[in-house]
Amino acid sequence: ELGWDAQSGEYTLPDLPYAYDALSDVIDEQTMRIHHDKHHAGYVKNANAALKQLEAIRLGSGDSGLLQHWERSLSFNMGGHVNHTLFWTGMAPEGQGGGGQPVGNLANMIIRDFGSFKGFSDQFTGAASKVEGSGWGWLVYEPIARRLMVLQMQNQQDMMFAGAVPLLGVDVWEHAYYLKYQNRRADYVNAFMRIVNWGEISR
Ligand code: MN
Repeated sequence: ELGWDAQSGEYTLPDLPYAYDALSDVIDEQTMRIHHDKHHAGYVKNANAALKQLEAIRLGSGDSGLLQHWERSLSFNMGGHVNHTLFWTGMAPEGQGGGGQPVGNLANMIIRDFGSFKGFSDQFTGAASKVEGSGWGWLVYEPIARRLMVLQMQNQQDMMFAGAVPLLGVDVWEHAYYLKYQNRRADYVNAFMRIVNWGEISR
């Protein structure tokens, strides 16, 4: 129920599972504060707002001409909420759960589907670094062939196929790295690998 309040029926901003400065070797405190408190909070607010507007349209009090607009807003902002909720829990301070390589079943699947951990890592960091404009790099589970894939995502939702289960995502919007890395997105993505919480991704 992370990010959702069943009582009010609204999505909520989950707290970070660590301090704002806990990842500061890789992501600085100010970026974490703005990213979590402003950007993620905005997606939550706007997802709830879109659902309210769609409810009003269902009930006949809303503007049905704006149905497509609010559906698009719902897709974008729910994408933002889900992506960031996974992003925060997918990281941990280096040496305290963050970094290294996965073990067990996930490690075996990565070797099976990408040849080696390096094969995966190179494709993941390369794909994330080369997203056109704002977006994400993702490791996903594809449930038909039951295999892992690396996907690029544009914005908060585009280029991901239905059924793909997101496991590990790196946010490559400029708001995620620009204060510390400016235009050096690849440096940020490579540094991100030092704080991946493989225990959580495996779970
Ligand atoms: Mn973001």
